[in-house]
Amino acid sequence: MFDLSGKTCLVTAAGQGIGRATAIALRDAGASVIATDLNPALVGALSAEADITAYPLDVTDQLALAAFANRIGAVDVLCHCAGFVHDGTVLDVDTAAFDFSFDLNVRSAFRMAQMVLPGMQARGSGTLIFIASVASAIKGVPRRAVYGASKAAGLGLSKSIAADFVGSGIRSNCICPGTVETPSLAQRIEAKGGDFATEHAAFVARQPMGRLGRAEEIAALAVYLASDRATFVTGQAIAIDGGWTI
Ligand code: NAD
Repeated sequence: MFDLSGKTCLVTAAGQGIGRATAIALRDAGASVIATDLNPALVGALSAEADITAYPLDVTDQLALAAFANRIGAVDVLCHCAGFVHDGTVLDVDTAAFDFSFDLNVRSAFRMAQMVLPGMQARGSGTLIFIASVASAIKGVPRRAVYGASKAAGLGLSKSIAADFVGSGIRSNCICPGTVETPSLAQRIEAKGGDFATEHAAFVARQPMGRLGRAEEIAALAVYLASDRATFVTGQAIAIDGGWTI
């Protein structure tokens, strides 16, 4: 349905979860995908299992990003998936936790945008897709103080990029998922130390559809936004949450 033939798509945090599903979905739509992740083992597994070109890349490492930008050249689409969920209220956020979340969730988005925008400007086209969250400027979610604040910053950045570069043929949008079944969700539940089934059921209980999202459902929206079917869509924060924010 969406043909991404001829487009080069750069995906961050593609080792697992939403990023991995997005890299595969973009490839399935015909794109040439450059997948990256902090974790070399996950990068290797993606290359081997999904036959996608993948590289280790830490989106908080400015020097590594500069070297990587020289290596890959211009891209048509950035899908920036890297992010970290801190669990806690504002009273649980110390300086280190604040700095880590804002470095990974916000500064990395600035870095990635600064990496890809010059090439897109030169070509007169391009699309940026940021994986944000409904836990941002859309919805207040318990124990997501610094996560929600950082994801809200991502919405502001994306809208600013959309406004600044709309005349250059460049679009920028945020995908704002609700709770999605991913490896890190399981890790977050395990980290709480309680009964896994009970904790997981609590996440499901807040979903009007009675289930969590699937990474492939988020990836499908990324494919649409990357495609030329979405050429009139920019500056948006699109919730995809099974009705959580109805
Ligand atoms: P995940 O948390 O399961 O995986 C994250 C991936 O990011 C891992 O492969 C990890 O190696 C990689 N990573 C971590 N630090 C990195 C770094 N510095 N540089 C490069 N890669 C790094 O993935 P997920 O749960 O699918 O989340 C992906 C994105 O979606 C995140 O931005 C997250 O905030 C957002 N999101 C997730 C959910 C959810 O319920 N899972 C909901 C809303 C938004």
